[in-house]
Amino acid sequence: MNRIISILAIGAVSSALLACSQSDQPTGNAAVTTSMSQGVTEQTITNPGGEWPAVGRTYDEQRHSPLNAINTENVGSMGLAWYADLPTKRGMEATPLMVNGKLFLSLPWGQAMAFDAKTGETLWHFDPKVDKAYSRYACCDVVNRGMALWGNNAYVGSIDGRLHALDQATGKTIWEVDTKIANHTYTITGAPRVVNGLVIIGNGGAEMGARGYVTAYDAATGEQKWRFFTVPGNPADGFESAALEMAAKTWNGEWWKHGGGGTAWDSFAFDPETDLLYIGVGNGSAWNQKVRSPEGGDNLFVSSIVAVNANTGEYVWHYQTTPGDTWDYTATQHLILADMEVKGEQRKVVMQAPKNGFFYVLDRVSGELLSADNYMPITWATHVDMETGRPVENPKARESNPEFPVVPGPSGAHNWHPMTYNPDTGLTYIPAMANSALYIDDYRIKDRDVIWNIYYNPEAVVFLPDEIPFEQRAPIADMVAQAFLIARDPKTNQEVWRIPQGFYSSGGLLSTAGGLLFQGDLEGTFRAHDAKTGEELWSYATQGGIMAAPMTYELDGEQYVAVAQGWGGESGLPFGVVSGPKNMFNISRLMVFKLDANGELPVIPSREQVLADVDFPHATADRVAQGKTLYAQYCVYCHGGNAVSAGLIPDLRYGLANTYAAWEAIVHKGGLSANGMPSWNEYMTLDETMAIRDYVRHETKLGAERGERRIVRAD
Ligand code: CA
Repeated sequence: MNRIISILAIGAVSSALLACSQSDQPTGNAAVTTSMSQGVTEQTITNPGGEWPAVGRTYDEQRHSPLNAINTENVGSMGLAWYADLPTKRGMEATPLMVNGKLFLSLPWGQAMAFDAKTGETLWHFDPKVDKAYSRYACCDVVNRGMALWGNNAYVGSIDGRLHALDQATGKTIWEVDTKIANHTYTITGAPRVVNGLVIIGNGGAEMGARGYVTAYDAATGEQKWRFFTVPGNPADGFESAALEMAAKTWNGEWWKHGGGGTAWDSFAFDPETDLLYIGVGNGSAWNQKVRSPEGGDNLFVSSIVAVNANTGEYVWHYQTTPGDTWDYTATQHLILADMEVKGEQRKVVMQAPKNGFFYVLDRVSGELLSADNYMPITWATHVDMETGRPVENPKARESNPEFPVVPGPSGAHNWHPMTYNPDTGLTYIPAMANSALYIDDYRIKDRDVIWNIYYNPEAVVFLPDEIPFEQRAPIADMVAQAFLIARDPKTNQEVWRIPQGFYSSGGLLSTAGGLLFQGDLEGTFRAHDAKTGEELWSYATQGGIMAAPMTYELDGEQYVAVAQGWGGESGLPFGVVSGPKNMFNISRLMVFKLDANGELPVIPSREQVLADVDFPHATADRVAQGKTLYAQYCVYCHGGNAVSAGLIPDLRYGLANTYAAWEAIVHKGGLSANGMPSWNEYMTLDETMAIRDYVRHETKLGAERGERRIVRAD
């Protein structure tokens, strides 16, 4: 069966309506492109000049700016123009937006702030006042990746699934909708997009039994205009569309009881010429296909790129990157649109480097697969068969084989970190990662909404063996898990260069017409590379890890480069066991750079703290094992493998597990619920929470024996 299905004619194509100019020149009159009375329009987003009005800058999401005042010749003199410490300790994944001299930035939980883009003065701060206990439904930190602008409104999603329209001038709420379906726990971490006056938003939750969908709301009123479900529901309830009836033929068993998954939690792209909206669709729920769809099947539209009509939400075509996904191989990764010559023919393409390790180039009008080649070494498949468009799998990858590391693991060969496409070099740049995982069946877990209902053993994912000494943990992690910055030519789907990076997770990218490629890293360095060669041309020592993508803007004739610093997210929170030895603590901060600036960061007083064992009667091995299993289900994705924190969530081994009374007050009764640590008394007995404490004290003892220490802030 051909994976490329194109069943609906794109009758609504009206190239006459094409309002955007293709000439996206650097200009000194960026403000002219935005009418103050109309605010942000389609014209602003298709041709923003020196502004950055949408999360991917433009609808094609290239994240490439035509600004070139900062370039390969002079970037060495770039310095700090201003910075703003942010009212959060959690991870920062957002790309700021800039129009009319205002910089807009979303923060964890769905907070938002506006700054004077020249001076850094805070203009307003919006707090959606999320019940912080909702953090228990967030798989991967309470991060937010960005905002949208339309007219004079700004839009941001909050982690509890609400979508907020704010006044760009004041940050006051214009309207608010709850995007969740009743009785389901969904999150929003992705940036909304606004197309044709509709605010487009998806959800997260496929680790918790969710059924994915994308919703469009009227940008002015918040009225729901359409909803596209990405996987079929229970056939007994009827199908929402012919496309879902078709999709249901690729499922079996009672998949709807496990949600099905397919959450669209990050990537969208839009082509105003065809009115096609491209949706990156996530993994199946449960992960383990033997549970979700026991007889196999492709399970449409999990792990697919789906094109829908942006005005109606009607299905147009799809390409499934990972049929029958069983490894959390989302296709929610960054989608980029570009026009280029492929094999002698001019094509309008959509590109993606999803988690599964293949780089795909598709004709974005028809959905035809043009090329697919792996950008990282993988073990789950050998190649993509270009006749069928399907991956040729290694049969071992589905065997639940403890001897067979599947590459990549669920972090993916590339995750949410934005790529960029530079039309000058013709190259796509991928913040890639090498990692692996053991996918071992585990049917102990009952369906619940707060733990990863993945039916794989969570203990096999993010723990290191006890016997590895403290000093060797980070180097070992760097050997088995490394980041790479890769330049790839999409016309040929061949690699041009790659830079191995000595850390295990990546940072988002920005490219500019100045011939530069910007990226931050988890150890606290912000760099500019030559986009042609990858050569490092400039670097700046920050005071903490960066994972968000930088952006750039022009204001009063000067070019600025902005990046949000703040460690955390899916790669940050669980992996303190490998980042901890690098002695990090987190600072969430917005930093803005320009040529010849000489701003300085504050001195942050710090001190070393040695992990101390405490004298207590040690629990039995069985008790510790019970606690470890519970910890792996409920705690690990925030507090970290081996109970080692990544530096932004309290490390439980440093005194917090000492007293029974404190553990009961916090873990069982929710004493720190307002900080984002929910009560677990609805999910575990008091004795079970105490088994977790016994496991944490066991890890405290082991860590003390290894001589573990950390650097903490002293102020
Ligand atoms: Ca996932």
